[in-house]
Amino acid sequence: MRAVTFQAPGEVRVEEKPVPELGAADDALVRVEASGICGSDLHIYHGRVPVEPGFTIGHEFVGTVLAAGDDVGRVAVGDRVLGCFHTACATCRSCLRGDYHRCERGRTFGHGSHLGDLQGAQAEELLVPRANLTLRKVPEGMSDQVALFAGDVMGTGYHAIAHAKLRAGDTVAVLGLGPVGLCAVQAALAAGATEVFAVDSVEQRLQMAARFGATPLHLEQADPKRAVRDATDGRGVDVVVDAVGDPGPLAMAVSLARDAGTVSGIGAYAGRGEVPIGLAWLKGLTLRLGLANVIAHVDRVLALIQAGKLDPAPLVSHRMKLDEAAQAYRIYDNREALKIVLTP
Ligand SMILES: [Zn+2]
Ligand SMILES: [Zn+2]
Repeated sequence: MRAVTFQAPGEVRVEEKPVPELGAADDALVRVEASGICGSDLHIYHGRVPVEPGFTIGHEFVGTVLAAGDDVGRVAVGDRVLGCFHTACATCRSCLRGDYHRCERGRTFGHGSHLGDLQGAQAEELLVPRANLTLRKVPEGMSDQVALFAGDVMGTGYHAIAHAKLRAGDTVAVLGLGPVGLCAVQAALAAGATEVFAVDSVEQRLQMAARFGATPLHLEQADPKRAVRDATDGRGVDVVVDAVGDPGPLAMAVSLARDAGTVSGIGAYAGRGEVPIGLAWLKGLTLRLGLANVIAHVDRVLALIQAGKLDPAPLVSHRMKLDEAAQAYRIYDNREALKIVLTP
């Protein structure tokens, strides 16, 4: 089978690899019919997340079950399925609490040996451990390129809002309008937000947020802080989502939140940075951070997509062939694409 492998920073390659075989009784083998290239794949592409050369990358996928172990009961051979970006054991303390994203035995697809040694989904076939928890059937009539958002990008946007405990009638600001930020805009509106301010510096992304129903604010041209204050009688918004994952946007999030509001940081923070912790304390903010618990959300996200309340379809800017992966990564890295879906 063909698979997209990491080689060195800035270099991915399509290689021929043996088709994986079932090992555990709850494994499934999936023929991948669509896979996504994600912002977190760029961390690997740049060498910021260490992955062994030759490791297959990718963690967003939709396909058909080719084989399943005896203990796989929730999906069957022939089913169209979508995957979550990681697996969870369902029996550790974190899983028993429902915190699947902190599973003590969790493994992330396509992230090398240090995140579970699980080969990735940008391939023709994929071995899926813990298939009962990791896979869901694709609802009737839902396209591949829409379904693959449920187990990662839309699940993450949804998590940013659910984790903030947003209530109908709240006002929201979303900082960073990549695919996750744009999904958070949709999730906020679906949850009953009355106004969503969407902040970025890329014109097309602002336009798309506006199309979804948000109020676009250009980071440099609009003075988001003033605009949010003016629109909220000087109070700030109830919920701020940082979908960038840097200290700068997190600091801005603290300044945009109202007293006793919530900041939900869904971007991937790394290392150290300066955040106005005194202001956050003075305002009495709730700060919620971390990786998204997509396994806990995936059924609701699929239901919302099916009901037309969430619609990731406009985010797909490019459809390319698996064989064009090297070019696809270059395009994505140059920010010429919002979302690339690879098909065999
Ligand atoms: Zn992803
Ligand atoms: Zn677990």
